[in-house]
Amino acid sequence: MTGFKSRFAAVGMAALIGSFVGSGLTSASPLQGSQVVVSTPDDPSQVAIEGRMIQGGWAMIHLPPYSQLEWGQRQWQADSQGRALIGFSRDQASPVKVRVTLPNQASFDVAIDLTAKDYLIQRIDGLPQRFVTPDPEALKRIRQDAALARAAREKMLDRTDFLTDFIWPTEGIVTGVWGSQRILNGEPRRPHFGIDIANETGTPILAPAAGKVTLVANMELSGGTVFVDHGYGLRSDFLHLEEILVELGDVVEQGQVIATMGATGRATGPHLHWGMSWMDIRVDPEEVFELPRRLQRGDQIIGNKAKFID
Ligand SMILES: [Zn+2]
Repeated sequence: MTGFKSRFAAVGMAALIGSFVGSGLTSASPLQGSQVVVSTPDDPSQVAIEGRMIQGGWAMIHLPPYSQLEWGQRQWQADSQGRALIGFSRDQASPVKVRVTLPNQASFDVAIDLTAKDYLIQRIDGLPQRFVTPDPEALKRIRQDAALARAAREKMLDRTDFLTDFIWPTEGIVTGVWGSQRILNGEPRRPHFGIDIANETGTPILAPAAGKVTLVANMELSGGTVFVDHGYGLRSDFLHLEEILVELGDVVEQGQVIATMGATGRATGPHLHWGMSWMDIRVDPEEVFELPRRLQRGDQIIGNKAKFID
């Protein structure tokens, strides 16, 4: 574990806890030049954002309890303690504008200025050509898999497992990082939305935080696949698994062995691909080590009616 753990120790603890006073347009100067602007008529002191305002990052928005949030097609709700999550995609443009409607129906925009992230280019050669350009049968299965994955992330669970410190799900060597542009057998393909950790087949895979198992499947590209939902739309995906030791609906504890490492699906060798997402947005697993330790712990969550409209 130490081989790759150290490279993340230096990432730092940059965070923002903004509080907004006064009326009208207020701005704060948080992380790495990013900026949060809140325009609100009433009580702006109740709004704060905590997290990394960076592409691939995620953050917690603190609002009056049960405030409604809207961002494009996404609608969700703050919990009884006024907490809601948000995630930022690889190529998310800045600023992110979230519409907030308070329980008293007053509404305002929260504008989040994102820092851009640099991405690597990763070339992988020697893949069987059917993985680079799938045949029609495989393509059909890939589409079915995608529909299954989409269905598994449509629900937002009232779990607060994401509030704990995350641990690494396995030991090994990091062979791929999040967000890199992939060139497979010389052909540009979609970016890599996970972190790859390589070790021997059979290496235990642990739940990095507690959660509920929302998908167990054998898929065309990802092979043995497990999703663990950590609550409020934040989810881990574990791919290329050899043996799966959990079932759909299981609630797992942090550190519980949920599977073993394999090379199933589109893989050049045994490794774990660990992906994370918030709602439909893929976020960088490295970012989970930044925020949770600072979040307020609590589990008084009732009546979360959040949903994602695809
Ligand atoms: Zn991967």
